[in-house]
Amino acid sequence: MESSLTARDRVGVQDFVLLENYNSEAAFIENLRRRFGENLIYTYIGSVLVSVNPYKELEIYSKQQMERYRGVSFYEISPHIYAVSDNTYRAMRTERKDQCILISGESGAGKTEASKKILLYYAVTCPTNDHMATLGDRLLQSNPVLEAFGNAKTLRNDNSSRFGKYMDVQFDFRGAPVGGHILNYLLEKSRVVHQNHGERNFHIFYQLLDGGDNDLLTTLDLERKPQNYHYLVKGNCPRLSSVSDKNNWKVVMKALSVIGFTEEEKLLNIIASVLHLGNTQFGEGEEGETYITTETQITNLAKLLGVDGAALGEALTHKKLTAKGEEMISPLDFEQAVSARDALAKAVYGRTFTWLVEKINQSLALKDEIYHSGKGCSVIGLLDIYGFEVLQHNSFEQFCINYCNEKLQQLFIELTLRSEQEEYETEGIAWETVQYFDNKIICDLIEEKHKGIISILDEECLRPGETCDVSFLEKLEDTLGGHPHFVTHKLANGKTRRVMSREEFRLLHYAGEVNYNINGFLDKNNDLLNRNLKEVMCQSDNQILSHCFRREEVIDQKRPEMAATQFKNSLTKLMEILMSKEPSYVRCIKPNDAKQPGRFDEVLVRHQVKYLGLMENLRVRRAGFAYRRRFEAFLQRYKPLCPETWPNWHGRLADGVSALVNHLGYKAEEYKLGRSKIFIRFPKTLFTTEDALEAK
Ligand code: ADP
Ligand code: MG
Repeated sequence: MESSLTARDRVGVQDFVLLENYNSEAAFIENLRRRFGENLIYTYIGSVLVSVNPYKELEIYSKQQMERYRGVSFYEISPHIYAVSDNTYRAMRTERKDQCILISGESGAGKTEASKKILLYYAVTCPTNDHMATLGDRLLQSNPVLEAFGNAKTLRNDNSSRFGKYMDVQFDFRGAPVGGHILNYLLEKSRVVHQNHGERNFHIFYQLLDGGDNDLLTTLDLERKPQNYHYLVKGNCPRLSSVSDKNNWKVVMKALSVIGFTEEEKLLNIIASVLHLGNTQFGEGEEGETYITTETQITNLAKLLGVDGAALGEALTHKKLTAKGEEMISPLDFEQAVSARDALAKAVYGRTFTWLVEKINQSLALKDEIYHSGKGCSVIGLLDIYGFEVLQHNSFEQFCINYCNEKLQQLFIELTLRSEQEEYETEGIAWETVQYFDNKIICDLIEEKHKGIISILDEECLRPGETCDVSFLEKLEDTLGGHPHFVTHKLANGKTRRVMSREEFRLLHYAGEVNYNINGFLDKNNDLLNRNLKEVMCQSDNQILSHCFRREEVIDQKRPEMAATQFKNSLTKLMEILMSKEPSYVRCIKPNDAKQPGRFDEVLVRHQVKYLGLMENLRVRRAGFAYRRRFEAFLQRYKPLCPETWPNWHGRLADGVSALVNHLGYKAEEYKLGRSKIFIRFPKTLFTTEDALEAK
């Protein structure tokens, strides 16, 4: 009998549950390392796929490979992202239940590449719907557009997604993709005005300068050289060797036309205006007043933004206040003017990005005739979102990202343990409880009403009078002192292992300790744009901008939700969406920091194994039954091993499976028969059976 697994595929174990020593982290990492050495980048933990970034093109993503994985069970073939794609798709089709694939891992680990491979698999292998023949194309083309505007070169990844993304793919009753919808999370807007050394701004700026033709650049009043733009030189890294901005410009422009985009001119005006904003300079007058030194710049800038030049200049240097019902204008000092300018650039770019996502969503939207056809649609959701982040210097952004990961861990606990339990129950099998750390206490610490960190932060932002990052820290200490997962310099009283500064608080996350520096927390949470700037913007005759800056926002005096609370609310919604679906997991690992093929840095990998909770994942999986398989599938695969079941079994399926395992000599403690599935406790049992099959 031919097995689809070759000897090479069997380097190490292809499923960690087969590891002899499953409690040993060293054995776990050794298995990853050996397989990685053979370019076997995928390994399972049960149905969870672990993927190690190869940093080189492997010949495993062709159309033929896709065909190999269609309709094939996990263990009959080597682990692959296509196996996860296919199994998820089949589960959606046969069980008629919405699915989601959650992809996690740190920056550069391969999450976005994985999500693109899944999309490609569906676009290539699924049937097409006549009404929506081009939907697959549009789904795929949404990627280069989002990446141009939402990705950037960072130290960790030359094409790092600077936003979180959840995408629903909707399928019709025949299994053809018919619609899509994208939710975006927390674009890193600060990158528009500042980049760390060795990093770049968002790709689109460089693409426009490198790829736009002469006429276009003249119209936009731009020069080719990125070095001429303040917002592009902070990282001192205008060009990249790994990507061609010029080629990508063409790709993006083509993608925009596939998506059916007609607002290119307006969009490019906005991109150019951000660059001109960055070059807008201020001077200080004799009485401390601030004025704009680059008047021609302002005229062009105003033209691109579609607003009145004089009003814009005024709004960049003055602030409008309402006191006791009366409006007052007060001049900004130099620093205030600079930060007002930067705030405008961030707001313009951030809101335009959100608008772009809406536009893509309109293009992917389910057509009414399908929606109303009465034949149900099902959904596969893909989550590609920042993994747990611990940098040298952690700030508000890391706080939000790590909070998001705590929530995802909660979901994992709920869904995995719950689904294990439910499966045992429906199959009528006695369930054993598994010990695990429930991180709800940390989620509460961050998000609880009135006494969680986010509430305290909001309160501090709203409190009248002098508030600052330090008063926020004091408030945290007052309210949260004594919480087992919250530490500061003062609370620790010198008792912490690692030195803490007086400007930090430490959270003991499920994945480990992280120190957060409080500088900038209040400002970033406030995310304020002066009212007179908003007034100018909402009068723009660029329809994208007038859509992004609404008049109501100026009239309505109510304080909009602050950044952390907005994020918290969007996460709550995301959790609801995910909870209603059947999850699959892809855990991505980055093998080295040098972005190089063939290098496996054990220390780095060990950190990620820890942050991803893989050992615990394995323990949970092993605590119950390592393997389960439907009777039909089990019989179908192993019937050649038993004369009673070969070539066909005609009786009850459960009896056939019984006959088969008796013949194979399974002992009573090794397996249990449920109502529709056989449960195998030790992976070894199945391994031996697989070997017998291969020997045959
Ligand atoms: P993340 O989204 O997790 O930050 P990416 O998916 O952008 O990481 O991957 C970073 C880089 O690693 C990619 O640009 C690509 O060069 C490489 N890479 C990731 N996954 C693969 C893969 N499966 N095969 C080849 N290269 C990959
Ligand atoms: Mg990414």
